[in-house]
Amino acid sequence: MDFGQQPYCSFCGRRKNEVELLISGTEANICNYCVEQGHQLVQQELYGVVKKEKKKKNELPKFELKPPAALKGHLDQYVIGQDEAKKVLSVAVYNHYKRLMQPKKEDDVTIEKSNIIMVGETGTGKTYLARTIAKVLQVPFAIADATVLTEAGYVGEDVESILSRLLQAADFNTELAERGIVYIDEIDKIARKSDNPSITRDVSGEGVQQGLLKLLEGSIVNVPPQGGRKHPEQKLVQINTENILFICGGAFDGIDRHIAKRINTRPIGFSNDAKRLELWDNTSLLRFVTQQDLKSYGLIPELIGRLPLLTYLNPLDREALRRILTEPKNALVKQYKKLFAMEDVTLEFSSEVLEYIVDRAMEFKLGARGLRSICEAIMTDVMYEIPSNKDVKHFTLTLDYAQNKFEHSAFYQLKLVA
Ligand code: ADP
Repeated sequence: MDFGQQPYCSFCGRRKNEVELLISGTEANICNYCVEQGHQLVQQELYGVVKKEKKKKNELPKFELKPPAALKGHLDQYVIGQDEAKKVLSVAVYNHYKRLMQPKKEDDVTIEKSNIIMVGETGTGKTYLARTIAKVLQVPFAIADATVLTEAGYVGEDVESILSRLLQAADFNTELAERGIVYIDEIDKIARKSDNPSITRDVSGEGVQQGLLKLLEGSIVNVPPQGGRKHPEQKLVQINTENILFICGGAFDGIDRHIAKRINTRPIGFSNDAKRLELWDNTSLLRFVTQQDLKSYGLIPELIGRLPLLTYLNPLDREALRRILTEPKNALVKQYKKLFAMEDVTLEFSSEVLEYIVDRAMEFKLGARGLRSICEAIMTDVMYEIPSNKDVKHFTLTLDYAQNKFEHSAFYQLKLVA
């Protein structure tokens, strides 16, 4: 064959301009198509795996669905308090996966999916709950931040980017992604800005809420697998969101005023009604939250309708913070002890130190998230020194030491200024 001057593949004869890649050897060339075909042949002939592997990829790993009480039991090991939210979440997750494990029959009662919305201050465990339940079930899990989303065509991320993340968490296995869990954080930040339809478009608020509707209700969505904006030349993957469980969370700052208004009283501190005060003094009004309050806060009814389960998380008090430090399976104190044990050093926290850490976390109003930053501020120096000092076999964290380290930390100084 005369192929002229153009180098060509010695196996299939395609010219260089007809292939994506032509690899040159000493006396022959091979193109990308032939390399791929050759690879498949080797796999098939030598290992007989091609078909099997393909099947394996699409095959969904079976999982044993535990009853709600057992699911809650798992959550209890990691998340302190928040009993109501744990219960709602366990039942919802159980029903959701039960529903999608049933074979589909015609004329059957269809069980609709129950996406969830959680209301609770920042740092009370909303994300942690969602992440933990996904871990228990071993399903792909993705977190999305509603504040970075904008209506298609505007600066920001398309709502579909949420599914790109889930697809990545599922290792690009579409079927696996299609039964994953997505947590959408800061859903309160896309509340409608005002009740009056404005002349300027609300592209990051109501526009995003509209965009989320089709994801939440269950539809086929075209997703750019690598994330980013959709553009015409991009390859898109179709994802059916029918069986994806969406959990939304938000702090909904000031929603207590809406709740109080609805139940026809004033917020705590203004009411003269002693009995009511007594009832609400120690518990947040959040436990009375209803869909109606979300609506008056600025979520559109269509979105609320697609998040039929509503639950709340309590603010964390001293007692809860203290327990979070030591009790959960991966409590901070346990983590530090383990780190030290890896250096053959036993670590002890005096109980005064634990109280001190909790006090500072309360003072800075950082919820449980603050505990970590405070511990890091105290522990950094000792963690820096211990690995190179082989003589130390035991370290007790005393109040003096903790106080001294914390008050000299950048974290503390920053907080003082703020
Ligand atoms: P939120 O999503 O409500 O703002 P997170 O779930 O991100 O808060 O909480 C931040 C961190 O604080 C978590 O990673 C977890 O370590 C810890 N935490 C928060 N709440 C709890 C809780 N109730 N029990 C145990 N740890 C908690």
